[in-house]
Amino acid sequence: ASPESRHSTGRAPNDFAAQRARMVDEQIRARGVRDPLVLASIAKVPREVFVPDLTRAHAYDDSPLPIGSDQTISQPYIVAVMIAALTLKGGERVLDVGTGSGYAAAVLAGIASEVISIERLAPLAERARATLASLGIRNVEVRQGDGSRGCPEHAPYDAIVVAAGGPQVPESLKAQLAVGGRLVMPVGTDQLAQKLLRVTRASETELSVETLTDVRFVPLIGAEGWGAADRNDA
Ligand code: SAM
Repeated sequence: ASPESRHSTGRAPNDFAAQRARMVDEQIRARGVRDPLVLASIAKVPREVFVPDLTRAHAYDDSPLPIGSDQTISQPYIVAVMIAALTLKGGERVLDVGTGSGYAAAVLAGIASEVISIERLAPLAERARATLASLGIRNVEVRQGDGSRGCPEHAPYDAIVVAAGGPQVPESLKAQLAVGGRLVMPVGTDQLAQKLLRVTRASETELSVETLTDVRFVPLIGAEGWGAADRNDA
């Protein structure tokens, strides 16, 4: 972006479309995410609708952005890396823990057949529900609650993505992963710096774990995440 466009506000919709196309090419494809389903879905989701009005001019910046309640919408590249790591083929049932703005849920909804998305904070869950509805996205169910326990009513899931960092992968989430399913989550004992892990369920009894990359996520607060008393951001 030119310096003027970077600092201007109130962009026309077609300007957002151009920025989105550039984001996919320069921030995501150029850095090695090549999964065509992921790129196509990201290319369709209007990220500007998921950020607060005052931040819209930065919707396609190469960074996370604040969304209120001390939370963030993740950097587009990281959303792409995490969803690509789920190796979706289309038609899966996915659990998305940490709805936040609902942006990642919308990208997942463009690939999977059904997305259950859980957010701990009620105001964010409500806003995400409204944003997804305004876009006509009907295959996401946003629930308010502690996603560190997953959502057993709809289990098992072909894929689980967790957008907040925990001290370990919650046992409940492992248990809700279908055979052949993949779970992607930031894990680390430092609450603000983690390794992105991919857990694959090979069979009823076997799980394998791979370390993908270093990431920085807000903490997963819950029964199988960090306790409210552990928080070092309070
Ligand atoms: N995927 C989101 C998006 O596209 O905007 C970004 C998620 S933000 C980095 C992490 C979210 O996880 C926050 O909204 C936070 O409130 C939520 N969170 C933290 N602990 C949680 C828990 N136990 N269950 C559900 N959500 C949780």
